[in-house]
Amino acid sequence: MTMTRPLAINEVINNQQLCEVFLCAPQGGMRKSNRTNTLTLISDKTKLYDDKVVGDIYHYTGMGQSGDQKMSGQNLTLAESDNNGVEVHFFEVIKPREYTYRGQVELAGEPYQGQQKDQDGRERLVWIFPLRLKDSKAKFTKLTSAMNDKQELQEEFKEIVEVDNLPIPQTEKERLIKGRIGQGKFKEFLIERECKCALCGVTNPRVLIASHIKPWSVSTNEERLDVNNGLLLCPNHDALFDKYLISFDLQGKIVISQTLDETARMFLNVHNGLRVKLNDMQLGYMKEHYQKFNLINDKI
Ligand SMILES: [Zn+2]
Repeated sequence: MTMTRPLAINEVINNQQLCEVFLCAPQGGMRKSNRTNTLTLISDKTKLYDDKVVGDIYHYTGMGQSGDQKMSGQNLTLAESDNNGVEVHFFEVIKPREYTYRGQVELAGEPYQGQQKDQDGRERLVWIFPLRLKDSKAKFTKLTSAMNDKQELQEEFKEIVEVDNLPIPQTEKERLIKGRIGQGKFKEFLIERECKCALCGVTNPRVLIASHIKPWSVSTNEERLDVNNGLLLCPNHDALFDKYLISFDLQGKIVISQTLDETARMFLNVHNGLRVKLNDMQLGYMKEHYQKFNLINDKI
């Protein structure tokens, strides 16, 4: 027999219902049921995950939480699912305790090995299964979790870090790095979230600049990857912020250097009434910028 009742694509059920439909165990990311001859895969986006969706293919990490993963048990069942007659069903958990049914999947290619960290943070070998949905109308959720954003950023930043090894002056390096960050994924994520300059109405993505609030050169890798450490500004406002001619206090209210006279303020579109909305994480980074602003401007 197969599942005890059919499920509609995108139907949301709870864990108990899932167990009733597939007659499987109530826990685990890969649940084999001999009674229904099914293997249920659960992609839990609320947990730490290294899975990726590339195009229509879901790259699913196999079973085994610590040490190298072995090609045995349910990993082997999935690897042989082309010809062992076991139906493979796929669920996504986007909110805790809600299992969204995406339908049946099949292997889209040979399983391959990759390196990932285990639950204790140690590097180990895992098996990754490229999967495709059988129903052409069904879709995997594009992973937009913070986790996946970080992965994409990490890959891009690896290339940016190489700029550090170039035999060129530090100021030139920083200019190059800023240029690359300003064009890449970090900017994309900021545009998705903010849409426009934090201070004015400029929305054209081609002129908007993504900057780190805490500068790249003094940020830890974690801080470099943190979108909360980002600020989207138009070229004028970015230049002012970058040179500590403006900053923002703990209420998000603008502070302007007294070296900017009325004319400059008018042409650069800054005045004392401006403020930005910042979340707690952003405020943490801004605090350092604000302190440095005060330090520099007190000396003048
Ligand atoms: Zn602006």
